[in-house]
Amino acid sequence: MIQRYELNDLIRADNFIDGKWVPAASGKRFAVTDPATGEVIAQVADSGPADARAATDAAARALPAWRDALPKERAAVLHRWHALIVENADALGRLISLEQGKPFAEGRGEVMYGASYVAWFAEEATRVYGDLIPQQQRGKRMSAVKEPIGIVAAITPWNFPLAMIARKIAPALAVGCTVVGKPAEDTPLTALALVMLAHEAGVPAGVLNLIGASRENAVDAVKDWLEDGRVRKITFTGSTPVGKYLARESAGTLKKLSLELGGNAPFIVFDDADLDAAVAGLMASKFRNGGQTCVCPNRVYVQASVYEKFADLLTQRVAALKVAPATDPDAQIGPMINARAVEKIGRHVSDAVQRGARVLTGGKPLAELGPNYYAPTVIADATPEMQLSCEETFGPVVPLFRFNDEAEVIRAANDTPFGLASYFYSQNVRRIDRVARRLETGLVGINEGAISSEAAPFGGVKESGYGREGSKYGLDDYLSIKYLCQGGLE
Ligand code: NAP
Repeated sequence: MIQRYELNDLIRADNFIDGKWVPAASGKRFAVTDPATGEVIAQVADSGPADARAATDAAARALPAWRDALPKERAAVLHRWHALIVENADALGRLISLEQGKPFAEGRGEVMYGASYVAWFAEEATRVYGDLIPQQQRGKRMSAVKEPIGIVAAITPWNFPLAMIARKIAPALAVGCTVVGKPAEDTPLTALALVMLAHEAGVPAGVLNLIGASRENAVDAVKDWLEDGRVRKITFTGSTPVGKYLARESAGTLKKLSLELGGNAPFIVFDDADLDAAVAGLMASKFRNGGQTCVCPNRVYVQASVYEKFADLLTQRVAALKVAPATDPDAQIGPMINARAVEKIGRHVSDAVQRGARVLTGGKPLAELGPNYYAPTVIADATPEMQLSCEETFGPVVPLFRFNDEAEVIRAANDTPFGLASYFYSQNVRRIDRVARRLETGLVGINEGAISSEAAPFGGVKESGYGREGSKYGLDDYLSIKYLCQGGLE
């Protein structure tokens, strides 16, 4: 029988190192709050370099046995972990809503999405093949085998507190790596609960270690991993500036890195698009998690001849969105993660208005609901000079840009250092082929706004990073290839 927990049973506030729950060496703690109310949910261990080092020590001790376990033994542990996550999807979904603010239906959806990666990599664990290289000389056999890279450090953001860490831990454990991890300051509780379930599923002591840290102490804690030669890989999801910092600071020990970084996704509506489908796709991709996703459209380009019609259809839908705490069963948009997020959204909107944009709906905080709410917003007459064109707004704001022809919009869409996701709507097959080839992003949604899947390779190009998560390619980042040359065979 699979154990089912209530929300409160899943809340853990200590570090998990070497199979045990332990406080930070300093004894310090930091508060995790509900973004809807500002109330404190838990006081979590605030780790520093000593805790990071203890986690690495445990991961190093556990590595030989885990690396040598049979793939099907590791797969069995991951399958049990998956079953526990699914059985506890309601409580985990509520925990995500509580610390991150997304409506419960989305929180539960994230649990199932994260769980799908665990199931996927449980299966992939048994399919890591090498090559027997066609013979080049008599008496010599050459082969290539794949080996776990070693200890992996996983550092994750707050916007998907379960899915982002699940899709790093699962492939790492699948191939025989051990893991040290640090979730975001705003949302460590879901990750700690996930680790608790992994332990219950049979992940041996030391194989998976997780430490909490406040924003203030995270830098020093993580630095210990960056400089420790035993940590062979960093897998990071977060902002581009922090990704660049990690690449720079870990160069001394030449680690392998996967960097899932920020985006600035264009969403293009051509005049031959099905406009209703385009509005539906935009609503789905833009307003997931209140616009706080790396793949959500940040710049919406609409061809001039359908611009006003599209703006009207969209504005009606956006104005009808229900903004409410995650606990409200009808909530479609919850609070933003914190006051800094609301301040950034407000700054982007007022900059746009000052430069001539029109607010069609929204455009203001909703202080009457609580400290971190912002109204779903549509802005017309956006231009490339505006801040919201150059940076991720990371909130429920849709800026509409006008364009005249295909070449112009491709240039505009690619005119950014980022290259994570892009979307376009068209019913012309030749255009679909051309535009899909020319967009400089790692992911392209074609007449589709919901593109994420455990079976698909997720990752960016340009300053959105490198490496892929999910799919058959998702294991490569955790493996190294060893060439074996055996002589004297004839
Ligand atoms: P962030 O500020 O880069 O933080 C990400 C993680 O790194 C957090 O755990 C954070 O800890 C930690 N961190 C920050 N500065 C650090 C430093 N100097 N040394 C060590 N660790 C450090 O990003 P975020 O605001 O949490 O997340 C939003 C960003 O993530 C957006 O840019 C979004 O596009 C991106 N994202 C990308 C993907 C993708 O798959 N490409 C997916 C989701 C999100 P603290 O929380 O304590 O600051």
